[in-house]
Amino acid sequence: MCERCLENPTQRLQSSRRAVLGLVAASTIGLAFGGAAMAKEVKTPPKPQNALSPEASLERLLKGNHRYVEGLSRRHDFKHEREALTGGQNPYAGILSCADSRIAPEYAFDSGRGDLFVCRVAGNFANDDSVASLEYAVAILNTPLIMVLGHDACGAIDATIKSLKNNTVLPGHLPSLVTALAPAVKAVSQHEGNPLDNAIRQNVIDNVAKLKSATPILSAAVEQGKLKVVGGIYRLADGRVDMVA
Ligand SMILES: [Zn+2]
Repeated sequence: MCERCLENPTQRLQSSRRAVLGLVAASTIGLAFGGAAMAKEVKTPPKPQNALSPEASLERLLKGNHRYVEGLSRRHDFKHEREALTGGQNPYAGILSCADSRIAPEYAFDSGRGDLFVCRVAGNFANDDSVASLEYAVAILNTPLIMVLGHDACGAIDATIKSLKNNTVLPGHLPSLVTALAPAVKAVSQHEGNPLDNAIRQNVIDNVAKLKSATPILSAAVEQGKLKVVGGIYRLADGRVDMVA
């Protein structure tokens, strides 16, 4: 990293949008997360099979889901991959999932450790913390794909619908979930069909759009073809992930 970057990394990042995902950004964020160790991760991925194009990553994700649905999940050799993963990580996909205990991305996509960079919050919406986490995955770990993963019968979205409909305030910190999920619920409130199903779908679509346009890192990666952001809905009954965005 040049001296100019070290003097003012923030200004350097803003001065060249195209360079955000280049070495400058990687070095800047790498310094923040530990310098040399991060640089080593980028140069020598512990899982070479995870270095994929966005399209190949999506294909691998969906093939893994197909195996899971069919009951043909692979036997993962966790023991022998531990050593490689002590040196770093290069997950082939980032997943923004609901915290619901019935949704387990690593199982749903038949993936091992070091394969998926998973952010989870009830209602699978993007906030500053999850965007920052996914920026790290994309800019430092070279993750080529992000999937926003909603699911059937999402309790967080159902609670939001009821809170808005009945004009009630939920206890504790739950209103923060309502605030985050309300835009999707309101957007489809006049639509035909099941209000919960409609809101679950809209919430995935909205958050895919939010991540695609998240400046400066994710939006630049999408523009440069280094990142694809997609949306899926996990079906509780059979484990299938349907693409919706
Ligand atoms: Zn949920």
